[in-house]
Amino acid sequence: MVIIVFFVAHWQLSVFFQTFFLHRYGAHRQFEMSKGWERFFHLCTYASQGSSFLSPRGYGILHRMHHAFSDTPKDPHSPENYSNVVTMMLATKHTYDDFAYGRKQPEARFDGGFPEWPLVDKLGQNWVARIAWGTAYVLFYMKFVTAPWMWALLPAHFVMGPIHGAIVNWCGHRYGYRNFDNGDVSRNTLPFDFLTAGELFQNNHHKFGMSPNFAARWFEIDPTYQVMRVLNMVGIIDMTGAQKMRYPARGTDTEAAAEAKSLAA
Ligand SMILES: [Zn+2]
Ligand SMILES: [Zn+2]
Repeated sequence: MVIIVFFVAHWQLSVFFQTFFLHRYGAHRQFEMSKGWERFFHLCTYASQGSSFLSPRGYGILHRMHHAFSDTPKDPHSPENYSNVVTMMLATKHTYDDFAYGRKQPEARFDGGFPEWPLVDKLGQNWVARIAWGTAYVLFYMKFVTAPWMWALLPAHFVMGPIHGAIVNWCGHRYGYRNFDNGDVSRNTLPFDFLTAGELFQNNHHKFGMSPNFAARWFEIDPTYQVMRVLNMVGIIDMTGAQKMRYPARGTDTEAAAEAKSLAA
């Protein structure tokens, strides 16, 4: 029982901080927060991703490229360009490493504006620290496993971040339904995305890149946005800047707003 709770908690926390901090805040700047809260959530992201921590810079550059080149040959991780999810993720890791470790410089429009904390980012990408996290997961399992099948869950903890990336990048551009024609093949995989905290509303998100709510129709629920509404209400984050459109999706704001209105009617 302890192992199941640990697995579910690690899965949910890791994907929550990925979508809330790295994606919606770091890559898109959909909302604002004080430096103190930014540091707090940066640490939470490190603690929850552990051995598979992604730096906000590496993630942000990769992700802005994904939006700009969605499902074209220049998209860093489109299922259109790969025969299976493993080759796609290996290529994604390669591109991510180039930017995260400063081996390549991105186009200027993809750079800047993401949270940077050199100490934590360096520690998060340090292999000794990554192995220490992995060892901690193993020790936890040694203490709490009560049935042999539970060991099958262990490897997922080592690569929690990439697992979520694989699900979102592959399924979100391959399986599900479409609300909008974005000129790409993005899809909404689940109408209530309990699996990746809202990330699987890829079709909506590619249409409204700056909207903090990834759900667009009445029956769609984006769990992370519901948490963000509470954080906004108590003053931890400020979503009023969400309309600045600093890192927009395809199409103009007016086109996107008109289409949203017609769907809601
Ligand atoms: Zn996408
Ligand atoms: Zn995005």
